[in-house]
Amino acid sequence: MADVRGKNNYKIVLLGEGRVGKTSLVLRYVNNTFSDKQQTTIQASFLSKRINIGENTCNLAIWDTAGQERFHALGPIYYRDADGALLVYDTTDTESFAKVKNWVKELRKMVGQEIVLCIAGNKIDLDKERQVEKSEAEEYAASVGAYHFQTSAKLGKGIEETFLALAKKMIEQR
Ligand code: GDP
Ligand code: MG
Repeated sequence: MADVRGKNNYKIVLLGEGRVGKTSLVLRYVNNTFSDKQQTTIQASFLSKRINIGENTCNLAIWDTAGQERFHALGPIYYRDADGALLVYDTTDTESFAKVKNWVKELRKMVGQEIVLCIAGNKIDLDKERQVEKSEAEEYAASVGAYHFQTSAKLGKGIEETFLALAKKMIEQR
């Protein structure tokens, strides 16, 4: 795999329930933009970003869904060759957190331990509506060997940290 994609190229897939903010996180990270009226993606999209980590330059290929999550139609073809997965839930929606747990199970079963997992609790700007406590999510993430970050695509919070942690770990694991 590494040979095909090249030494410094890494694939990250976004996973999570519809409307949790996956597309918004990627657009904030890559283009530094945000829209309150983010449309449900209709095409699978792929964005890339080059980052420097110490002396390493690495190219992140970030795969966003085409909204197939709404039809439970995201399968191994999407995530099989990924080096890392960013599992997103909405901190104001308990069900979306339960979905993340399902994704973790599926990825561990289908891909194994070599995929780097990072969980992002998004929309922390809506703190008054929060349903998932940070401590609960952190505890869960630690129990499955995943990173956990709290993010707001709207405010641009926590996102650089999230992708940086993923990238560092992917480099370490390769
Ligand atoms: P996706 O279906 O997971 O890709 O989610 P989208 O990125 O399309 O976002 C769904 C909705 O949530 C859109 O209306 C976004 O503007 C909104 N949204 C995304 N991230 C945030 C955030 O951090 N805070 C708030 N308040 N809204 C957000
Ligand atoms: Mg989307």
